[in-house]
Amino acid sequence: MEIIIIGAGVIGASLAFEAINLGASVTVLDAGERVSGTSGTSFAWVNAHGKPPRDYQRLNDAGIDAHQALQARFPHRRWLHLTGSAEYRHPHDAPALATKAEQLTAWGYPVRWLDKETLLAQEPALARDAVPTTPVLWCEREGWLDTRLYIDTLLDAVIDGGGSVSTATPVTAIIRQGNRVTGVTLANGRALHADRVVNCCGRWADSPPFQPDLAPPLAPTAGLLVRVPSAAAPVRHVLITPTFDIRPDGPDHSLICPNDLEVSWALTESPTGRDQAAAALLAQAARLLPGLRGVTDYQVTTGIRALPQDGLPAAGPLPGITGYHLLVTHSGVTLAALLATLTAQELITGQPASLLAPFRPDRFFH
Ligand SMILES: Cc1cc2nc3c(=O)[nH]c(=O)nc-3n(C[C@H](O)[C@H](O)[C@H](O)COP(=O)(O)OP(=O)(O)OC[C@H]3O[C@@H](n4cnc5c(N)ncnc54)[C@H](O)[C@@H]3O)c2cc1C
Repeated sequence: MEIIIIGAGVIGASLAFEAINLGASVTVLDAGERVSGTSGTSFAWVNAHGKPPRDYQRLNDAGIDAHQALQARFPHRRWLHLTGSAEYRHPHDAPALATKAEQLTAWGYPVRWLDKETLLAQEPALARDAVPTTPVLWCEREGWLDTRLYIDTLLDAVIDGGGSVSTATPVTAIIRQGNRVTGVTLANGRALHADRVVNCCGRWADSPPFQPDLAPPLAPTAGLLVRVPSAAAPVRHVLITPTFDIRPDGPDHSLICPNDLEVSWALTESPTGRDQAAAALLAQAARLLPGLRGVTDYQVTTGIRALPQDGLPAAGPLPGITGYHLLVTHSGVTLAALLATLTAQELITGQPASLLAPFRPDRFFH
């Protein structure tokens, strides 16, 4: 089977790797350079908590298993760091965290409570007087993923396996014969044909060249990320605080993201606005991590989430269209390995995966 995958972020790279392992002939096309999309501007927390409803939490939990299985195949390229994650709230919001923990336990997801002293022992850089005495939720299965190493490794494996990966190669048109998609056209006018075309374009999945009947409705939001030297904020785990999230980002850096899910869109266009927002975020974070006071050696970026309108993945064929598949999701870092495994099997064997049943794109096309 010949498969064209449009988009080489975590989703497209993972799918290409799984499809080539199942014997497909794979062509990956990306408009940009490697890791130039949302996957390069992600907090990249691999997690399954805070992800209702039940079907979605189950999918994310299985996503962690799939990442462990994939990482085990590349023991010398360590991109998956399951450090565990710790979350605490302001005292007035602690009951909501307790409710979340009860639900996760009822769903069989392993979580437990830490007290303040245990958290401080695990994270000695935290300022004692800035940590509340409310219980800390510990999720042992969680961690973070180095998206660049992950994508590079998988795309290189695709090439080694005989697949084709072209960057700086935008798809400008989708070739259709009525309701059958048969290929794509590139900017140089060249036409490529395949048995299946898969839209892995993330936040661009509803933009040209995808006509409205080939695209899920998206409701993207913007996020801010600040990368600081780890000497200024030497955290060891993913830490979710009432106002920001922070995690290690390799041996030399830590990554901070405000945890209100949305920052102003204006920041994506305004370097000055970004710098001001970063300075405010760092001032706030410095109350917990005093080493951040006065830090000047940091990088600021914004990312745009690939968010289907109802917040859930859109994975599968579209009603009435053949030869075409969608694979677009938020939490794509957590879900990439699993969605790719299931989707490659669906594409190649035609057998639908039951885990994906709640996430079919046809819910958008009534
Ligand atoms: C601030 C922020 C924090 C996040 N935090 C987390 C988190 O903690 N955990 C988590 O699991 N997820 C998180 N996410 C979400 C996650 O990063 C995304 O779901 C994931 O990166 C999407 O991957 P993708 O491969 O679908 O998209 P992308 O990485 O954007 O890749 C899509 C690719 O399609 C290409 N493309 C677009 N149009 C065309 C075209 N016409 N022709 C050819 N190529 C094209 C683009 O160049 C791009 O490379 C976060 C996102 C943001 C922005």
